[in-house]
Amino acid sequence: MTFDDQEYLSRYPFIEKVLISSEDITRRVRQLGNDISNDYKDSTPIFVCILKGAYPFLADLTRCVSIEHEVDFMAVSSYGGGTQSSGVVKIEKDLKANITDRDIILVEDIIDTGLTIDNLIALLKVRNPRSIRVAAFVDKKIARKVDVPLHYTGFEIPNEFVIGYGLDYDEKYRNLPFIGVMKA
Ligand code: 5GP
Repeated sequence: MTFDDQEYLSRYPFIEKVLISSEDITRRVRQLGNDISNDYKDSTPIFVCILKGAYPFLADLTRCVSIEHEVDFMAVSSYGGGTQSSGVVKIEKDLKANITDRDIILVEDIIDTGLTIDNLIALLKVRNPRSIRVAAFVDKKIARKVDVPLHYTGFEIPNEFVIGYGLDYDEKYRNLPFIGVMKA
């Protein structure tokens, strides 16, 4: 844990603990950047940031890749009503890029049930990209309802509600440099 992490903890007493420290995040994102750079040596992939939560991960990850690439942004929301996410996604903000015949890396903050990313992949496949892979910062594997292939995963976490590094509580705390758990 860095001094910064510690300072945030004393400033925000509602945070129970740091689950993934900013130091661990830096180290892991660098490794993922290396892996992606090796895998896409002969390609210029498009990193697609799924807004809002994936913005810190996208910014850090793309600064750790040594290959040429493009970035684009997409925002989706689940619809269907009810308290549980149906996973059926509605595009709130679409890509600018034409993804036909391109290699796509979907950059996600967290995969929980997997329903959102599963539906998003189905939706993008219709546009005939050459390939689609998923880079997820955290994986709550235990909460999964559909099987989704995650090619690059930062960390696997238990089934707890987490905040920080892009993840919000009521639109706040996305700026925290670590992943934390809130007090119940
Ligand atoms: P899924 O369709 O995989 O269940 O939902 C993924 C979305 O649920 C994420 O993009 C995120 O917005 C939200 N989500 C799931 N778990 C958490 C969590 O622990 N913390 C926060 N802040 N959001 C979460």
